[in-house]
Amino acid sequence: MANINDDTNKDMPLDEGAELNAEVIHDPEAIFDDLVGDDGLDGIINDNDIVFDCPGCGHGLVINYRGAGLLINCTECNAAVQVPIPDGMELADLDQEPEELQSQIRNLRVALYKAEEHGRELENVVASLKERRTLLEKERIAQLRRMAEIRSACETIMRFNNEITNACNRVIEMIQSESR
Ligand SMILES: [Zn+2]
Repeated sequence: MANINDDTNKDMPLDEGAELNAEVIHDPEAIFDDLVGDDGLDGIINDNDIVFDCPGCGHGLVINYRGAGLLINCTECNAAVQVPIPDGMELADLDQEPEELQSQIRNLRVALYKAEEHGRELENVVASLKERRTLLEKERIAQLRRMAEIRSACETIMRFNNEITNACNRVIEMIQSESR
């Protein structure tokens, strides 16, 4: 909500329906509080105020300088109107309030801390995955070694089996030749 005073009809109450529709960088309610102030309520125009006419109906409008560049609704015709930006004023100037800079710095620090924390967590995940991969590789090598041992044991059994079969054949041959 924005406060727009009617400088041609100063006793008119504030238009409660006036909205900040777009290009609101900060919390609209906070801007509303800034814009209203005491001066806004009694219709006094400050040095800081922007005075301009609605391009739609020509109605005179007054808004605190912090409303520069914002879209508002005309109190008279309700058309969406962009508050003009005074010559020499940069929109960035609106962000130069020390408290706002402080709060931006604080927010950036919090975001940075969280990002770093997330980075550390990811590093831990990568480290534990690497550890797990090393472990799995070791297990796989040990398993391959066990398979080779089993295969070799099987080959030994088959060799003994052949020798036993050969020995049995020789015994049978001997018995047959003795029986003749
Ligand atoms: Zn208008």
